Amino acid sequence: MDTPATRTRIIVLGGGISGLLAAWYLRQRGHEVEVWEATSTIGGWAQTLAWPGPQGEPGWLERGPQGLRVSRNGALARLLLELDLEARPAGSKGPRWLGRGGRRHPGPTTLAGLLGAPGLSLGDKLRLLAEPLIPAGNDPGETLQAFFARRLGGGFARELLPALVGGVLAAPPDRIGLEALPRLRQLEARGGLLLGGLRLGAERTRLLPGGTGSLARTLAERLGCVRTETSARSLEALPAGRWRVHGEGIAAEVDAVVVALPASQATSLLAPVSPKAADLLEGIPRLDLRVWHSRHAPVPGWERGFSLLVHPPEGHGLLGAVAFAGDDPRGVPGLLQVRTYLGGAFPVAPGLEAWPGVFAELRRWLPELPEAVQVREEVCPGAFPLLAPGHGGRVTQLLTALPPSLHWVGAARFGPGLPELAEGLEAWAQARLR
Ligand SMILES: Cc1cc2nc3c(=O)[nH]c(=O)nc-3n(C[C@H](O)[C@H](O)[C@H](O)COP(=O)(O)OP(=O)(O)OC[C@H]3O[C@@H](n4cnc5c(N)ncnc54)[C@H](O)[C@@H]3O)c2cc1C
Repeated sequence: MDTPATRTRIIVLGGGISGLLAAWYLRQRGHEVEVWEATSTIGGWAQTLAWPGPQGEPGWLERGPQGLRVSRNGALARLLLELDLEARPAGSKGPRWLGRGGRRHPGPTTLAGLLGAPGLSLGDKLRLLAEPLIPAGNDPGETLQAFFARRLGGGFARELLPALVGGVLAAPPDRIGLEALPRLRQLEARGGLLLGGLRLGAERTRLLPGGTGSLARTLAERLGCVRTETSARSLEALPAGRWRVHGEGIAAEVDAVVVALPASQATSLLAPVSPKAADLLEGIPRLDLRVWHSRHAPVPGWERGFSLLVHPPEGHGLLGAVAFAGDDPRGVPGLLQVRTYLGGAFPVAPGLEAWPGVFAELRRWLPELPEAVQVREEVCPGAFPLLAPGHGGRVTQLLTALPPSLHWVGAARFGPGLPELAEGLEAWAQARLR
C-alpha cells in the first residue's frame, strides 16, 4: 500500500457494491474512510436474501447477480484473493437455450452451438469463422449492434445478438454503446473475440459459498466503517474544497465525498451543488427490471440448472430465465429454483404483469416446467443504467462539471457488471480520485 502524503478523510455515500469497493480501494491507498448506507442492509442489488422453503427450510435468492464472472488476473479475482473468499466454479452447467421462432434451440455459447444456431445461413456461418481476420475498429460511439455486425457479421447481429444482450443488459444492442462492456474492446485489441479470449483467458462464473451477497458482507466486515440506516440528505461546500455531509440528526466534515448512489438519489444530492452534473446524470436512462423467483418440483435433465434467453420481441417482455443447479447450497433440496426476468427497455405485455401470465409464457419455451410450489416477485426499479452510444462523452462532461473533492462512481460510470465495477473502481482509486 502506498500512503498518501496527507491522510485524507473521505465519506462514501451508498453501501452498495460500488460504495463498498470504492471504500476498500481508498482504504488501501491509506485514506480514512466512512461509508453511509441509507437502509439497514448493505450490498444494494448485490444481496443474497433469505427465502425459506415451503416447510420453512433454509433457502435463499439472489437479488442481483446469481454468480460472479471472474477472469484470470482481473480486479475481481485479485479482490477475492485479498478477502480470502474462495469462490467455487459454478460447475458444468445444465442446458443453455435460445428461444427463437417459437421454440428453443441450443444456446450459441460454443462454436458448435453457434454453427447450429437458428436463422443463420451458410454464408452467415462462414462469416463467423472469419472473425480473427477482422481488423480492430476505432469508432468511440460504436453500438454493440455495430460492433458485433462488424466482427461476427450481420446474420449473428440480427438473429442472435438481441437475445444475448437483452438477457444480460436488458436493452436492445442498437441502443447500447461499447462502454457497457469494456472487455470487448480489450478482446478486440488482443486479436478479436476468439483469439483475444484465448489470450486474455475466458471469464468463468464462480459462486461464493454464502451467495453473491457475501462479497458485500465481507467487504463491510473487513472495512468496519459502514454506518447503516444513515441516509445522506444534503451536501454543503466548505472553504478549501472540504465538505459537510448532512444526514438525519448527523453531519460529518470531510476532505472529500464519493457519491456511489443510484442515479435518482445522486441527482437530488448533486443538484444544489452542481446543477450541470445533476442534469447530465438525470439524462442517463435507467431501466426497471421485474424479477420472479419460483420453486418447482425437479425436472429430469435439469439437475445442473438451465438458462434460457428469449429473442426479445418474441418474449412479450420476458427476457429469459435461469435455474440454480440442484446441489446449489442457496436452493431448497429437492426443488428446482428458477429466476425469470422481464422488462428493462422492452415493453411487458399486460398479460405478463402477474405470475399466471409469466408462467404461461415460460411454459411456451419450457413445456416441462411444473406448476410453482412457491413464487416471489422482486421488482428492481432503476436497476440498470442504459449506457447509450456516446455515454463516455457524457461521463467526461459530468466529471468535469463536479466541484473539487466531490466524486461520482457507480454502475452508470463504469458499467453495471460487478467485474466492470471492480476494474473501474480499482483503477479510479489508483489514479488518486480523478
Ligand atoms: C436483477 C438483477 C440482476 C443482475 N445481474 C447481474 C449479473 O448477473 N452480473 C453482474 O455483474 N451484475 C448484475 N446486476 C447488476 C449489479 O447487481 C448492479 O449493477 C450493482 O449491484 C450496482 O451496485 P451499486 O452499488 O452501483 O448500486 P446499488 O446496488 O443501487 O447500491 C446503492 C446503495 O446506495 C444506498 N443509498 C441510496 N440512497 C442513499 C442515500 N441518500 N444515502 C446513503 N445511501 C443511499 C442504497 O440503499 C443502496 O444500498 C444485476 C442487477 C439486478 C437488479
